[in-house]
Amino acid sequence: MSIPYYHTIGKEIQAFEHAYTCKIPFLLKGPTGTGKSRFIERMAYVLNTKLITISCHEETSSTDLIGRFIIKGAETIWLDGPLTTAVKEGSILYLDEIAEARPDVIVAIHSLTDHRRELFIDKLGQTIKAHKDFMLVASFNPGYQRGFKELKPSTRQRFVAFSFAYPAAKVEVEILESETQIDVSIAKKLVNIGTKIRNLTELGLTETVSTRLLVDAAKLIHTGLPKRLAVHVAVIEPLTDDLEVIQALKDLSDLMI
Ligand code: ADP
Repeated sequence: MSIPYYHTIGKEIQAFEHAYTCKIPFLLKGPTGTGKSRFIERMAYVLNTKLITISCHEETSSTDLIGRFIIKGAETIWLDGPLTTAVKEGSILYLDEIAEARPDVIVAIHSLTDHRRELFIDKLGQTIKAHKDFMLVASFNPGYQRGFKELKPSTRQRFVAFSFAYPAAKVEVEILESETQIDVSIAKKLVNIGTKIRNLTELGLTETVSTRLLVDAAKLIHTGLPKRLAVHVAVIEPLTDDLEVIQALKDLSDLMI
């Protein structure tokens, strides 16, 4: 695998390297599509360590993470879950969108996120000590608007944290160019559209234009889709289902590209 492309946005690499040395759990905060997953892929690559990613959703339980008994032929055998595997082999476990997971997940990781660094496997009645290289990383979308789950202070304070935000325009243009080989003039126009929509806070969008959406639009344009259509389907439609808002944003973006 080649080195994952990641454009630094601040002092996150420095902070992460030290947290990794100390094996302090690390929380990546920020809206969707701001490079959190790409960042951790890059860090795992650079630190030459395995990364296990779990995309948490409302059904994700501690059993999914720790492991379960399964029936194989006439036998019942134990199967380690991804958290147990990471704890044993010393990988980075990345819990993407940790606040979405069921509360028992938070309980399960508690003893791993303090000085004990151990995992209790209740179904086996065992406690295992984490490998020296094990590290827990999680992402969380603070979502200042409705519809997002909170993370309790008692959980948050077990992590060192870094906030990811939409990159500065110049950086975002570079990201679009690197990700899609698109012409710089088109990349600039896409970033201008993104910035403009982000500033329209009165629209009350749950989430606004992420770098991911702009990258998608750039990819479609690069493969020959007309520019305006690419912006409509990749940037505007994913943002909202409100027909009036969609139309207003289409009119706006058509003037800009
Ligand atoms: P998140 O995990 O925050 O939802 P991702 O890491 O999946 O977001 O980023 C979404 C996409 O946006 C990536 O696939 C990449 O194309 C692009 N991207 C966003 N930020 C960066 C960055 N700082 N460096 C490189 N690519 C980025």
